[in-house]
Amino acid sequence: MGLTSQPAPAVTVPLLDLSAQWREIRDEALAAITRVCDSQRFILGPEVEGLERDLAGAIGVRHAIGVSSGTDALLVALMALGIGPGDEVITSTYSFFATAGSIVRTGARPVLVDIDPVSYNLVPAGVRAALTSRTRAIMPVHLYGQCADMGALTQVAADAGVPMVEDAAQAIGSRVRDRQAGSMGLAGCFSFFPSKNLGAFGDAGLVTTDDDAFAERVRLLRTHGAERQYHHRLIGGNFRIDALQAAVLRVKAPRLASWSEGRRRNADRYRQLFRQAGLDGRVTLPVEGAGHHHIYNQFVVRVPERDRIKASLADRQVGTAVYYPVPFHLQECFASLGHVAGEFPQAEAAARETLALPIYGELTDAQLRHVVTSMAAALDEAGV
Ligand SMILES: *Cc1c(COP(=O)(O)O)cnc(C)c1O
Repeated sequence: MGLTSQPAPAVTVPLLDLSAQWREIRDEALAAITRVCDSQRFILGPEVEGLERDLAGAIGVRHAIGVSSGTDALLVALMALGIGPGDEVITSTYSFFATAGSIVRTGARPVLVDIDPVSYNLVPAGVRAALTSRTRAIMPVHLYGQCADMGALTQVAADAGVPMVEDAAQAIGSRVRDRQAGSMGLAGCFSFFPSKNLGAFGDAGLVTTDDDAFAERVRLLRTHGAERQYHHRLIGGNFRIDALQAAVLRVKAPRLASWSEGRRRNADRYRQLFRQAGLDGRVTLPVEGAGHHHIYNQFVVRVPERDRIKASLADRQVGTAVYYPVPFHLQECFASLGHVAGEFPQAEAAARETLALPIYGELTDAQLRHVVTSMAAALDEAGV
């Protein structure tokens, strides 16, 4: 039978597929894992120190401290600031749960602020209005891989005399002008969860800072506050990163910039394809702010009838996700904060309308085109 009589293979587009990346690094990653196994040094040690040096240099900070997860990076940074009951930390109502969860776990109160409808990041004027005498820190989130408005937020924090802890979990390598995510506040908190742009083979995270005393406190807290084994200066936790994760991350880190470039290329290609398909008026695409370098951990669009569109895309083998369907102020576990629906309308609209499309660098042009034609069909089906 001739090739022309074969049916065209159906295009499928998972939301994320790390198998191509794995093929690229397989030999090096397995060699690194073997090196750790041969050394039998699994906790901290030379692999972790090497990773910390590499990433401090790449991010442009004096200190990078490997920790057990992005969640623990946020928690240990707040603990190192001595934040606890009676304190307030101002943050966005629209982020991954760990942002607000880490604040509550210290005993402090998260003071929530609405987002900008275009960038999905904290509104600096909202932060200024939320300051009180109990404010001990401001925690901006660089959502989806684009930095918050750090120029204005730095001014608000400086006027109030409070430190900023950046939730940079989604934003490694992202920049505003020449400043990298995680180098603008007192502390930067990163996640190496496998779906982040720099993902480990399990859970891992990082705290960055230029402040020597703060770095020392984070290092102490990471190992139960012990300076010498069994002599505890502070009450910390087990917030250590594994040597295996560090070894894998050292293989991946040098490739991060080119992987993020692939995501940026796909974002540009989507813009072109959505425009060519005449969909740019029906689908709101993400905007890279002036002076910003977006690393597209997520490519998040807005559509009416989002849940119907999501289901139609799934029928066409296009994987999508909703980040996030419920803002913090409407979460059941935060009911005691006393918020009500309608209080933060921009976050509530984003929770209803946003949808993340596949964006990883290894997507083929056929896959990108399939996403856009599927979106056109889904919009027609939904009558929007
Ligand atoms: C992923 C993420 C975290 C938590 O990181 P983990 O490594 O999963 O604990 C925190 N904040 C934001 C914004 C995230 O996206």
